[in-house]
Amino acid sequence: MTQPMSPQGKERPIKASEIDPNFKYELQKIHGLENFLHCFQCGTCTSDCPVARFSDNYRPRTLIHMAQLGLKNQVLTSDTLWLCAACFTCTDRCPQNVDVAKAIQVFCNLAAENGYMPQLFRDQAQNLIETSYIYKIPEVRIKKRETQGLPPLPKNNPNTIKKLLKNIKFFKHIQQQTPQQLLGENKNASQ
Ligand code: SF4
Ligand code: SF4
Repeated sequence: MTQPMSPQGKERPIKASEIDPNFKYELQKIHGLENFLHCFQCGTCTSDCPVARFSDNYRPRTLIHMAQLGLKNQVLTSDTLWLCAACFTCTDRCPQNVDVAKAIQVFCNLAAENGYMPQLFRDQAQNLIETSYIYKIPEVRIKKRETQGLPPLPKNNPNTIKKLLKNIKFFKHIQQQTPQQLLGENKNASQ
């Protein structure tokens, strides 16, 4: 069997050991992904995706196809997943009523749960925990607001946010893991 074009744009034969035959059935049970196996690879989602227009690698159609084939590790470790802008254009245009945007969101959540998240998102998560803002706002900018007569930025309560994030095991998900560690873990988990 040959793999469809990977998100990284390379084709290579698929090994049987790479396939998790249960993956598609697990996905199908998730609310919003019931129609996911109805995808017939027309490519409408990719042709209408505003991110795919500007990326050589990001292809929602390919991610759906890989998930249908059971290429769980490859889907979850793909950096391109995280390029999705969650605009829902793909979902609106799919002739098979596949909620493509939801599928990408689920892939990102599963990737995070399995310890794989690009460093940029880890950094943003860390900022959220420390300051309750995704970006650390530099002191110089806060002072500049004052000099320009702008009101202070709203103060959030990082402790409340920490409590909420702790309840959803968020801290565990942002712990650093290399892709190799992740692949090793997933391999063991699927055996
Ligand atoms: S638009 Fe729908 S049917 Fe067409 S490739 Fe995308 S998910 Fe599949
Ligand atoms: S939701 Fe994501 S995959 Fe779908 S069209 Fe928007 S950017 Fe592309």
